[in-house]
Amino acid sequence: MSQHETAARQMTEPDPATEAARAWPSATRREAGPDGAGAQVAAVARPAIRLESLNAFYGDHQAVKDVSLEFTAGEATAIIGPSGCGKSTMVRCINRMHEEIPGARIEGRVMLGDIDLHGRDVDVVAVRRVVGMVFQKPNPFPTMSVFDNVAAGLRFTGTPRGEIDARVQGALEDAGLWNEVKDRLGRPGTGLSGGQQQRLCIARALAVDPDVLLMDEPCSALDPVATLRIEELIADLKQRVTIAIVTHNMQQAARVADTTAFMLAGELVEHDETNRIFTNPSDDRTEQYVTGKFG
Ligand code: ADP
Ligand code: MG
Repeated sequence: MSQHETAARQMTEPDPATEAARAWPSATRREAGPDGAGAQVAAVARPAIRLESLNAFYGDHQAVKDVSLEFTAGEATAIIGPSGCGKSTMVRCINRMHEEIPGARIEGRVMLGDIDLHGRDVDVVAVRRVVGMVFQKPNPFPTMSVFDNVAAGLRFTGTPRGEIDARVQGALEDAGLWNEVKDRLGRPGTGLSGGQQQRLCIARALAVDPDVLLMDEPCSALDPVATLRIEELIADLKQRVTIAIVTHNMQQAARVADTTAFMLAGELVEHDETNRIFTNPSDDRTEQYVTGKFG
């Protein structure tokens, strides 16, 4: 198996590369015009993600119950709630990873702008490109160099060879990692520190120019300094990429998120401005959770 095939497997994308190159519906892609003006339009025109009565099941067990929630473009939305309340399941529905689990299914809709991401004519590989994901434990492709980790998704989605170097550098810059790795691009990605590996995974996700970045407890394996770097990055990135971040750390939600959603036992209890969730929530259960009475 080639490195790229390995990468494809690790990204849990079952379709071959030819499928990956299939064009994403043109309505969601906006290119910069010759004067660069289009780039600004793109910055404000990123679509929101909207969950509409989302239910998610593992066999008979319902992990997400009738959740309707909008992730506003240009903002970071935090998802908080006790362990097992369905946070990871909910975000895995957004990039269609949930359906890969045998017996798992969803009801309801996940809309990106006006596209139903679970629609019959929507290619799962295209969804994974438009909706990037960063996991709890940094997971660079173990056999690949720093460079190839970032280039993997680009090659997989058919980016012309001549563009790859610049795109890799741009993604590493966007992830705040370029200066630390520019002299070791050929070395294994797994040789980096934990925080650098997580930023490498963010660069890998950003390289294909996603509209949405899902982050499932992205700092829980990192030290406080590395955590701060990621939080600073989120503040920059959210202007271009709609961000959903699951976090156990309420201070982190308060620092990075414009709005916060509180989940309990698969249900969305409330979603409001972060400040309000932490100081004056409407639901007693939210109040009890944020003041540490359970969870
Ligand atoms: P959280 O991320 O909030 O901790 P999860 O989404 O991981 O919660 O889990 C929500 C519920 O779904 C839990 O009851 C959990 O046991 C169940 N669950 C999660 N993953 C699976 C799976 N692969 N198979 C069966 N049940 C699962
Ligand atoms: Mg989880």
